[in-house]
Amino acid sequence: MDTDVFCTEAIERQTYFDTRNIRVVYDIAPVTPGHSLLIPKRHVTDAALLTEEEMLEMLGLVKLLRVKLIPFFNAEDSYDLIIQVGKYSGMSVPHIHMHFIPRHKNDKFQVDNDKLYSEVAKGPAARRLLEKTEYSRIIGSLRKEFRYKGGQ
Ligand SMILES: [Zn+2]
Repeated sequence: MDTDVFCTEAIERQTYFDTRNIRVVYDIAPVTPGHSLLIPKRHVTDAALLTEEEMLEMLGLVKLLRVKLIPFFNAEDSYDLIIQVGKYSGMSVPHIHMHFIPRHKNDKFQVDNDKLYSEVAKGPAARRLLEKTEYSRIIGSLRKEFRYKGGQ
């Protein structure tokens, strides 16, 4: 039985959109406004173990986030995609997830873009967690924007 955080029911409260196999989650400690995670619903530890269907859905969601999430957070045309695989990669949860990180003209990483990567690799527990009320407000407005009605 796998019990990582992405395989618990709690992840549903952090979900603001999903497809058949992939959920879109708002990071609990976003490195920039809009920082989201694309996570397969099935427990998958390695990107190479994703099915073709899962891969296609994941890339389709990148497209959707580019179109809807970027303008929602006024992030111009920039974003980072990060996937870490394996214990030597900085992967913080042993369940594949793709970070979608909108980039802003004035975000704190413009001075040194490489710092973004170390910030992501730290994992959410070592970053500044959003206040509960702030998090609920964002999830609520994202669910509305993405017309998400709960798990499918
Ligand atoms: Zn898992």
